[in-house]
Parts: sequence; structure tokens; C-alpha cells
Amino acid sequence: MRLALFGGTFDPIHLAHLRVAAEAADKFALDRVLFVTAANPPHKPAGSTTPYEHRHRMVEIACSCDPRFEPSRLEDREGRSYSYDTIARAQSELAPGDQLYFLIGADAFAEIGSWYKAEEVLRMVEFVVVSRPGYRYPIPKGARVHRLESLALQISSSEIRKRLDEGRASVDLPPGVLEYIKQNGLYR
Ligand code: ATP
Ligand code: MG
Repeated sequence: MRLALFGGTFDPIHLAHLRVAAEAADKFALDRVLFVTAANPPHKPAGSTTPYEHRHRMVEIACSCDPRFEPSRLEDREGRSYSYDTIARAQSELAPGDQLYFLIGADAFAEIGSWYKAEEVLRMVEFVVVSRPGYRYPIPKGARVHRLESLALQISSSEIRKRLDEGRASVDLPPGVLEYIKQNGLYR
């Protein structure tokens, strides 16, 4: 089985996340992409994100578009969510012969040096790094990195939150996610 972890705040999950995952799954013959909703993102101030259950529910709705996509509660726990712990937990559940990748955008990978146990993280897994307009990144020594350069998607959750707050609907969301946002009065 070939699988990838795809972590994110997903506040909210949008069409670029899905496109990135599909492209990686196609190019790297992945059987499963696990969308790991970050419970307490270390790089965002506590309380600044939408509650976990809302973000994860939207991930569940979005993942129904592709049989390879799976919502994951690997980070559904107290305390900060560190990728080091998430990867270790995922690896402990692998079967012999499984190949695990860590799927990540260029902006996030550019910051990886500042992560908790960065050197260990870089050693423990192979990365698929997806291009994102305006972001470049160095490849740290010894890191195993596959560059996926075929996408240049301008979409971001921050931009979508801003638009929704201004009362404008966003076309960059899966219809079911936009529906969920409206029903629950999120982002306004
Ligand atoms: P925010 O603007 O709130 O930071 P975001 O759009 O960056 O939201 P995240 O949940 O922070 O979304 O990102 C999760 C993962 O998806 C990260 O690895 C990020 O780099 C990647 N990603 C998000 N949007 C894109 C995009 N347009 N192109 C490539 N990768 C992306
Ligand atoms: Mg981001």
C-alpha cells in the first residue's frame, strides 16, 4: 500500500487541497491520502482557528469526492499537534511493505526547519512537496524530497475566509463545504 499524510489546518478545506492530493495520488500511484486535520496548530495562536469538529467535518465532506481520500483523526488529541508525533503514530500502524509519504505545499515546507524535532522529521519520511505561487524552498541536506511542480494554484483558506466574512460566496470550495459553512454560520 502506498499512502500519504496530508496535514493542514483546513480552515476551511478548499479546492486546491483536493487538487494537490489528486495530483500527488496520480503521480505517485498513491492508494490512500490521509487528510489529517490539525487539532492545535503549533504555528497559529490558540483559539484563532475554527473549532476542530467543524474543520474536520468539512474535511469529511470534501473527501467524499475521491475514493483515495480519507479524513483522519490522527491529531485529534489534547496539546499541540506536532508532525513528528503524527508521522510516528502513522508509521507504527503501517503494514510490512507499506510506503508512507508526507504531502506538503511549498510554503509549509519552506518553514520546516522551525518545526518541533525538524531534523528527525526530515529523516523519518519521504516528502512530496507541491509548488505554490510565490513560494520557494531549499531542500535541507539529507532530506528525501520529490518535487511536484505541475500545479500553480492561487487558492488559500485565508483568502476564502476574508471573502466569506465580506459576505461574498467562494467558488473555490466544494459545494458541500460551502453549504456546511452557510448552515453553521461560519466565517462571519
Ligand atoms: P491558510 O491561508 O489559513 O494558511 P492554506 O490555504 O494555506 O490556509 P492550510 O490548511 O494551511 O491551507 O494548508 C494545508 C496544506 O496544504 C499545506 O501543506 C499547504 O502548503 C498546502 N496548500 C494549501 N493551499 C495550497 C495551494 N494553493 N497550492 C499548494 N499547496 C497548498
Ligand atoms: Mg497555510
